[in-house]
Amino acid sequence: MIGILLAKKIFLSFLRNSSKIIHRILKQLSIMRDLKEYVTHCIDELKSIGIEPGRILTLEINTRARKRWGACSPEYDEKGNIIGYNISINKLLLDEKIPEKALKNTIIHELLHSCKGCLTHKNQWKNLAEKVRMELGYDIRRVGSSDHKGIAIEIPSKPPKYIIRCQSCGETYSRKRKSKVVDHPELYRCGKCKGKLERVR
Ligand SMILES: [Zn+2]
Ligand SMILES: [Zn+2]
Repeated sequence: MIGILLAKKIFLSFLRNSSKIIHRILKQLSIMRDLKEYVTHCIDELKSIGIEPGRILTLEINTRARKRWGACSPEYDEKGNIIGYNISINKLLLDEKIPEKALKNTIIHELLHSCKGCLTHKNQWKNLAEKVRMELGYDIRRVGSSDHKGIAIEIPSKPPKYIIRCQSCGETYSRKRKSKVVDHPELYRCGKCKGKLERVR
């Protein structure tokens, strides 16, 4: 009898735990926004004010970009005519913790590049961007930094390749590329205390 009760107890706690795990997995899945849904919605919004985006061939979620929020690149046929556009959006923007507006601003920005004569941020693109700002309220200025999107997220940056350290005060200076100070730190002095410098990475 006790054995059966124990088995029942174990079975019930197993059920409870597994439903917790399933719940957690479902929650994780729902954190990601559906890019296609948003793009469709944004296309409709543009059409509603008379802007006709080009043919979108592929939608890609970019998981590697560090500084880029989105991109729109044309695809050409053998004769050099544009047959459509590929749009990619930074995965970070699909996170539900990021304001929806940031994602939509980026999508609209890229969709505008697919309009006629809008590959660059010049005249025609600028005109449409202004129209979108006036009529739909999207601020899709060229600058891709987070402050222009009203979001405070940090895109993880690459760790510096080289690090120079002051032997006296310990101040460190990081450099992404090779330079004179990277090659010959002994020729330079610390900006803070004029101490001798050494390369530690
Ligand atoms: Zn752009
Ligand atoms: Zn120093």
